[in-house]
Amino acid sequence: MKRIVSLLILLILVASFFVGYKSSKRTKELVIDVSTLSSSNISLTSYLENSAAFEYSSAVEMLFLENGTIRTNETLILKTVGNASTAKVAISYLYPLIKIRNLRLENAELVNASISQGKDIIYLTFEPQKDKVEITLEYELNWRDILPSGLGSLGLLINQSTKNKEEVLLAPMYFPSVAIRGTKRGNTLLIKLPKEWWAFVVDSSSYAPWELVDSKLSGKQRILHFEQRNSNFPLIFIGKFNRFTRTVRLHEKSVNITIYMPVNESEKGNVTLLQVESIVRTFSQWYGIYPYDHLDIVVSRLAKPHAGLNIGKGVIIVSGRGFDVWLLSHEISHSWFGSYADLGKISESLATFSAMAYVLTHSEDVPSNFLDISENLSMMERNVSLAKAYKSSLSLQKMYPIVYRKGGFVFRSLQFVLGNETFFEGLRQIVRECHYTSCGLKRIQEIFENVSNQDLDWFFEEWFYSAKVPDYEVKNFTIVQNNGKYLLSFELIDRNNFTMPLEVKVETDRENIVRVLWIKGEARITIECEGKPLAVILDPHEWMINENKEYQIDGVKIVVE
Ligand SMILES: [Zn+2]
Repeated sequence: MKRIVSLLILLILVASFFVGYKSSKRTKELVIDVSTLSSSNISLTSYLENSAAFEYSSAVEMLFLENGTIRTNETLILKTVGNASTAKVAISYLYPLIKIRNLRLENAELVNASISQGKDIIYLTFEPQKDKVEITLEYELNWRDILPSGLGSLGLLINQSTKNKEEVLLAPMYFPSVAIRGTKRGNTLLIKLPKEWWAFVVDSSSYAPWELVDSKLSGKQRILHFEQRNSNFPLIFIGKFNRFTRTVRLHEKSVNITIYMPVNESEKGNVTLLQVESIVRTFSQWYGIYPYDHLDIVVSRLAKPHAGLNIGKGVIIVSGRGFDVWLLSHEISHSWFGSYADLGKISESLATFSAMAYVLTHSEDVPSNFLDISENLSMMERNVSLAKAYKSSLSLQKMYPIVYRKGGFVFRSLQFVLGNETFFEGLRQIVRECHYTSCGLKRIQEIFENVSNQDLDWFFEEWFYSAKVPDYEVKNFTIVQNNGKYLLSFELIDRNNFTMPLEVKVETDRENIVRVLWIKGEARITIECEGKPLAVILDPHEWMINENKEYQIDGVKIVVE
């Protein structure tokens, strides 16, 4: 009995010694000195083939300093899946721009570590010693050294040759990219900034904003905590801004509007805030209540002049150079058309329509040729119909005149045809319905037909499916004077045979008369005037795009606007 007891004690001692040894070995952290790694010519494509697979997530802590330094600590938490014994990881990064300061491996036994000849890929082979392996990478980079390139389609917005000391856009290429067999489950990103600075994080492929789960101030530091569930890289936008905020009540809803202004342009902050509030209120009346609970507008020093982008879910970037009510209203309307309702390229037509309609009804200093300019721009590309342009992948240069300018104008024409009440009810129905399923032109036509209780085939055929525009001509023009009055009579012919209501304005030396008449290819008009007719103006309020001209008949000026 005594022997058994002592044997047991001995066994327990051995076991505890063994466990103690193992656990200290398992939690052992291995620091790899990157500068001493031997160089290898492993091919990255085949390297991971026989590796154990993982489910993994990444936690990044980034310290951002005004002087240019970014110091980052990225921890990859790997959970083994299956039971392959050897695991491999390849970490590629922009050498020498990114400096790896430290590489640590936890709960794993290192088998081999090497570096590519270009010193830009680190290869690690290891044996996981526990279910959970951690790889920590500490690196540094100077953001003042980099250009805002590698942005994908966001590059259209950004002037990629501009560096700025108060703003930077970090594309995915400025982060080490870790290749692992398995599935990435999520990302967390903690950014520590000087407190006058802000960061915005979006998904590098869809540009959807990452969720800001926490934001706090700690001393002179701002700490922002972002999260995202998929495996895409973040695109990080950081800048020094003055913030202007306001809460707007829209019926039962509160919307927090925040303008992020470059520090040297802060004097524009309050004016911009009021403009944005007015736009949000107007569009909420026209299109239904603003769909989100916040609207962040970042005025960027890196964006190209007059450029803007609605990233979605209430985040908008507009250029600090040439941002005005036109640009703001265009981008804000994308919160309904494009961000909330999925309409493909048709949202650009509706955003341009919105900007036109907002400027015309709310801007104090609309230039008299405002609609003329829009009409002329839309005529710059005359060979492609809107329906075709919506479906094709034209360059922005080719697309702009049609999809933006002509499209916006055609919705203005539809507003004229249907009247405000029916037209805006149609747009509200589009916003409601196309949030759940994406809508094309056919569905949009059906929605307007339903709300107006009219067949609109003729309108859509003419304006969306054909590349033509009306071409009005005045014929058989006569003026008969009788009892001190003037009887004006003429034929109106449309060489392109559109069916459209047309405003006709007669200017006389005593009065101006405006009539609306339907032209189906042609029409005959007789107007009685008190004064002597001086001019006949067709489409004086520019409700539609048409061939503009000006000539004289019998001393009367004929103008097609
Ligand atoms: Zn747009």
